[in-house]
Amino acid sequence: MKVLNGKISGGYKFKQFKGQPSPKLSVMELPKNLFVPTGKIDSGIKPLVRSGDTVTMGQIIWKDDSSISSPVHSPVNGTVESIKKQDSPNGQISVVKISSTNSDKFEKVPGFTTEWKKLSNKELEQLVYLSGTGSLGSGGIPTEFKTSVINPLEVEHIIVHATDAEVYNPDISLFLKDEGAAKFTEGLSILSKIMDKASVHIAMSENTNTWFQVIDNTVSDNLAISYHKTKSKYPQNHDSVLVKTVLNLDIPAGYKGINKGVVILGIQDVCQVYEAVVEGKPLIERIVALAGPVFNDNFHIKLKIGTSVSDLSAGKLVLEDKEDIRFITNSILTGETINYDSCIEKNCEVLIALEEKRGQDLLFFAKPGFKKDSYSNTFLAKIIPFKKDINTNLNGEHRACLSCGFCQNVCPAGILPNVLFPYVERDRLDETAVQYGIFKCIDCNLCTYVCTAKIPIAEYLKEGKKKLIKDTYVKEEDFITSYKLIGMNVEGGTN
Ligand code: SF4
Ligand code: SF4
Repeated sequence: MKVLNGKISGGYKFKQFKGQPSPKLSVMELPKNLFVPTGKIDSGIKPLVRSGDTVTMGQIIWKDDSSISSPVHSPVNGTVESIKKQDSPNGQISVVKISSTNSDKFEKVPGFTTEWKKLSNKELEQLVYLSGTGSLGSGGIPTEFKTSVINPLEVEHIIVHATDAEVYNPDISLFLKDEGAAKFTEGLSILSKIMDKASVHIAMSENTNTWFQVIDNTVSDNLAISYHKTKSKYPQNHDSVLVKTVLNLDIPAGYKGINKGVVILGIQDVCQVYEAVVEGKPLIERIVALAGPVFNDNFHIKLKIGTSVSDLSAGKLVLEDKEDIRFITNSILTGETINYDSCIEKNCEVLIALEEKRGQDLLFFAKPGFKKDSYSNTFLAKIIPFKKDINTNLNGEHRACLSCGFCQNVCPAGILPNVLFPYVERDRLDETAVQYGIFKCIDCNLCTYVCTAKIPIAEYLKEGKKKLIKDTYVKEEDFITSYKLIGMNVEGGTN
């Protein structure tokens, strides 16, 4: 087994934060009600169920054959209580509220089999589609059934990663220990059969790469895997950085691996493909890490998709008033802030709870402050291994740039954020900002995090890019042509 050492330009290693999830796994008791997000209202596709209908666990309750999407299943046996509109980052969606009855029986995905090697690729792709697992990963799993913006023949590489780049990361031992590694590698073989022109890569950090040997011992002889040991630095997990490290390919900012023929998945995603194809289990559950100092215990929990944050966090928080808590999914720096009434969606792997600290320097954008961590050696926590605290307060105000250069040092895109942001701040945007590489910025927010003067650099750059495109200094077609991007202009966007 050969292991390649992956490099990252810039980046930052988050260490010793309070609230790390332990490898303990518990199964959540069935909540009384589930809130299942389905498709966008403006697609015109309505849920397949109505209020009062009885549904079975695993029954398809929403699907859209005309655009890029995957079916949505009822995560429980029960009754549809209501169907309501809800705002989401992608627009208004329909949410199906289902009251649950306590039964474990579920509707299996038709056609599942342990003898999947005998199935044609189309039959395998249909299993992935029908199970809903085609929607996993950063751009979906390509099948003939419009689960992604590209088709399986266009996929050149599959990358599965556990890069440990975030402040809080899921514990992959939960998926790979005991029988897990064999299921994972069989899941990889299934994916490799579907995308039979693709090479398979596994990227793991300095902390997790001990699993390489376990995987290599269980993988089928027919499947060649390239192993890549990566630095556990943020933002190694972002599509463009990962693809650069593993494949030395460039993806312009704002585009995904899928637009370059690269399918990017997590360990849990691959295990869920195995469960769908071999065991007939639709995508109705996730294992989610409960992270951050506001949970009274940090561990992993298996829950139904559609579980509300309020049900999930009941009795597990150290603060009583929900106004004092901010919930963020997956990433402290780029994750989505969700409220108490939101539900856990299929792409959630980590739920972070932070104290909402108010004061005159309350955050004015959606990223948290870190109480004692610092890129400089300002705090003792840098040299003594105390656990670092974290809340939503920046602990300081925006000042003038101190020319410390920290933002340049960490920027994974190799640009000069401190030179670029004043073009936006002073409203002097023109092609000079393009020449200085503003479009290489991948919106990772790391420059903002390390900035000594607490300048929201990344926000300025994001705004600048939007304005430059609006004022046609740059056209989207230029990126598509020069980077040879694929899967563009497909109805429905990425999954
Ligand atoms: S300039 Fe962009 S890519 Fe560089 S650190 Fe800031 S947000 Fe990340
Ligand atoms: S990190 Fe902030 S203060 Fe330091 S050079 Fe960059 S913009 Fe200026």
